[in-house]
Amino acid sequence: MKPEAPKAEVGRVIAVLEEFGLQARVISPHPRVVLGVVEEMDRRLVERVSARLEGMPGVEEVSRFESSWKLASREFHPEPTLVEVGGRLVGGEEVLVIAGPCAVESRQGFLEAARGVALAGAAALRGGAFKPRTSPYSFRGLGREGLEILAEARRLTGLPVVTEVLSASEVELVARYADVLQIGTRNMQNFSLLEAVGEVDRPVLLKRGMMATIKELLLSAEYVLARGNWQVMLCERGVRTFETSTRNTLDLSAVAVLKELTHLPVVVDPSHAAGRRELVPALARAAVAVGADALLVEVHPRPQEALSDGRQSLTLEGFQDMMRELQAVAQAVGRRVAGGRS
Ligand code: PEP
Ligand code: MN
Repeated sequence: MKPEAPKAEVGRVIAVLEEFGLQARVISPHPRVVLGVVEEMDRRLVERVSARLEGMPGVEEVSRFESSWKLASREFHPEPTLVEVGGRLVGGEEVLVIAGPCAVESRQGFLEAARGVALAGAAALRGGAFKPRTSPYSFRGLGREGLEILAEARRLTGLPVVTEVLSASEVELVARYADVLQIGTRNMQNFSLLEAVGEVDRPVLLKRGMMATIKELLLSAEYVLARGNWQVMLCERGVRTFETSTRNTLDLSAVAVLKELTHLPVVVDPSHAAGRRELVPALARAAVAVGADALLVEVHPRPQEALSDGRQSLTLEGFQDMMRELQAVAQAVGRRVAGGRS
């Protein structure tokens, strides 16, 4: 719509779309209203709808999008989407660092980790209460008790918490405790889970499947957006390649490509890519340099005792050092690492 188009003109356009049996979605409410229609339409219908809309007062432009992801596309929504996490915005000038152990293992251990990363400047806490494990005999998390511990850590530090939800039936429970719902790499194409998190009012951190293309990641995000939840962050966490020196290959080019294709913020998880802590600070710096809006980093007070992913977890001291080094890189690219609680 034209920037000055009054509400009544917007309403008339929506009504015309409805006459055609199409649902208008408000893609961008300001500075100008952008309306989107994502239903499949044949060429004749497109022509009829376009012809009707083009002459209407307030309409500036009617255009078609070819990409199969629509709501996630930058074509559709040129301005970056800012996702609020605990009062801070992801996708703007600040780079947020989300840190904590892979899993919530015990109350005392998690609170110690939470206090430590908060002091070092983390903007949010991470920790899995429900853990997706390759082997069913590995530690699979404390479940509800883990969620209670996460809530206590939030009260203690004032920082929001990010935790994974494994199945659609647990979305409601996890959303009661978590500030951000993480969808893990193994669930990127669990479409019923994506639709379930699309229904709740919580930001979603969607991790790229370990063998998924960028396009598949965007189409998974589309499932969440299409259900009305626009608070989606995409996370590059390394993909499987022939390389064995690292656990996964961190696809930094995916960050640059995503910035081009989508308005959604991009998060990088250097920990699951690296697989060993020695590499994590360098990959984190590279991620900020290439344009990541946030980092997801595993930190454990005693990594050698961790029940999962200890080898790739930074110690608290290692995390402090990394945070110091990151600030310089952020400044070099016109950003700033968010400083602790907001
Ligand atoms: C995690 O964040 O601990 C995790 C399980 O990540 P991913 O889904 O990327 O393996
Ligand atoms: Mn992990």
